[in-house]
Amino acid sequence: MSDIIQLLPDSVANQIAAGEVVQRPASAVKELMENALDAGSSQVKLIVKDAGKTLIQVIDNGCGMSETDARMSFERHATSKIRKAEDLFAILTMGFRGEALASIAAIAQVELKTKRIGDEVGVKIDMEGSELKTHEASSCPEGTSISVRNLFYNVPARRNFLKTDSVELRHIIDEFQRVAIPNPQVAFSFHQNNTEVFNLPVGNLKQRLMGIFGNSYNTRLVPVEENTDIVKIKGYVIKPDFAKKTRGEQFFFLNKRFIKSAYLHHAVQSAFEQLLPSDSFASYFLMLDVDPKSIDINIHPTKTEVKFEDEKAIYAFLRSAIKKSLGQFNIAPSLDFNQEAHMYNMPLKPVDGIYKQPTIKVDPNYNPFKTETMPSVKPSERQLHNNANWEKMYSRHADNQLEFEIKKEEPQQTINTDWDNDLHESNLKSSYQLHNKYILTHIKTGFMVIDQQGAHERILYERILDAFEKNKSATQQELFPKTIELSGSDFALVKELQTEIRSMGFDISEFGKNTFVIHGIPADTINFDSVTLLEGLIENYKQNLLELKSDKRENLARSMARNMSIKSGKALTQEEMNNLIDELFACSMPYSTPSGKPTITTFSSEDLDKRFKK
Ligand code: ADP
Ligand code: MG
Repeated sequence: MSDIIQLLPDSVANQIAAGEVVQRPASAVKELMENALDAGSSQVKLIVKDAGKTLIQVIDNGCGMSETDARMSFERHATSKIRKAEDLFAILTMGFRGEALASIAAIAQVELKTKRIGDEVGVKIDMEGSELKTHEASSCPEGTSISVRNLFYNVPARRNFLKTDSVELRHIIDEFQRVAIPNPQVAFSFHQNNTEVFNLPVGNLKQRLMGIFGNSYNTRLVPVEENTDIVKIKGYVIKPDFAKKTRGEQFFFLNKRFIKSAYLHHAVQSAFEQLLPSDSFASYFLMLDVDPKSIDINIHPTKTEVKFEDEKAIYAFLRSAIKKSLGQFNIAPSLDFNQEAHMYNMPLKPVDGIYKQPTIKVDPNYNPFKTETMPSVKPSERQLHNNANWEKMYSRHADNQLEFEIKKEEPQQTINTDWDNDLHESNLKSSYQLHNKYILTHIKTGFMVIDQQGAHERILYERILDAFEKNKSATQQELFPKTIELSGSDFALVKELQTEIRSMGFDISEFGKNTFVIHGIPADTINFDSVTLLEGLIENYKQNLLELKSDKRENLARSMARNMSIKSGKALTQEEMNNLIDELFACSMPYSTPSGKPTITTFSSEDLDKRFKK
């Protein structure tokens, strides 16, 4: 028998390697931007088309490559960054495995143009599926430009696996931020489909963060700094008042490289301890610098987890550094929490030298369930739903009953009518709120418990979807329109969603760079602050984008419903509870929240009897 083992052709080996290095357009963005930084650039431009599916281009003004190096750069294990094994332990560059360009060229059409500083001419190379197509002299500017077209063009399974443009773009923005934040000494810009998403001039870390997340961060950031022999810590945390309900912004950089660390995250979160409202997350941007010898760099290039010696000491230093900063900050709380979300940044010092307790506006007549202002499902339709759902409710019980009693009693119908009357006449009037969280109400066969927040989310969700359907919803005009300044990426997102956002009842218009004016908000959100409301919507929307595959409207409806819903912890009046139950059963799917959690659970009297051993 002949031998059967063969070496894989390079193109195949490269494609396999590419699978590890390049999972999606964002991974190519990361590799190309890191190369640009390693080349010592002071300016890096990123251009993408169709969320990187059509084009990813990175242009830098770094050291450039010689003609031979340019050709070599596409070979596997070709790197200028390490020569011997010991170098591995002192590595400070972003790349060193020499795999990225070879991998990218295996699964895309790549054009490289590069010229070293001082060289007369540069070179242009075209690669396609690991094959060299052109290699010629080129009169290009100093530095390097790499264009990656039609990523995964020859790996259809991968290409089909890519998510929607908004999801892929979100990943690209994440990678862009992870490179741009720790390098404020380098100017970055980012264009997607000819729109400028970011333009970040050279500056300090604070300016960089404001450039990315908006000028409102000016007053939200608290500096953190600590120098020890083991670790140098520098960066910012966000004031507790601005903590986000969703994960928010959490960035650790170890020797300027983005890392994830649940362990260090815990250190930060615990430093915030009592300061954060429950179920909120701290936001932070923290640079840790350690001796490269003390970390295990033999980690996969696309992985963000790191192992380092002295983990416990770093935890302790980090925690105490943040506690110290927050302590200093607490002495001087900011004056007005809402003001900071606007265009005008107020000075922190009060004029008369006295700090006043911020006041909270409360509308005592506010009823979160009042629906007159916003026409939703027609009464008759609603009533139908309501009845039908109660019927279902009843029949669910009838079914349950069967499990306990073999004898089936009355036919459903007769009880049903009883039931309906019963419900509307007396039962609802005696709902009871438990721990400001659950509503207890008795039903013929026992009692049911409703989760107030989940139920309200369901109601709002269906109402919003309905408003989309009818393409109108009532708007409450604001007496004093407010401006909201967003980060470049959030601004692009709101622009993309503006039709839908308007049909939810927001009246917004563009107002200069990265800014919208909010003239009106959905009518049943009167006692919400318009800026907080829109910010919350964007925040939830982005979160959902990463977690689920839903279309725009579905996501917006979910996000807004979550945003507006009455939360656990709110005391409700008898009337509010009754309204909520009534509205819930008018929904087409009352039994679960938009994200599929139960809204209602029931207990039958048989269950109770059993418990009391009757
Ligand atoms: P690595 O970064 O791990 O060395 P890459 O495949 O990313 O591997 O790049 C291979 C080599 O190509 C680098 O070591 C570097 O010498 C060169 N190179 C890549 N991109 C650039 C760039 N933008 N400017 C200058 N040289 C570059
Ligand atoms: Mg590299």
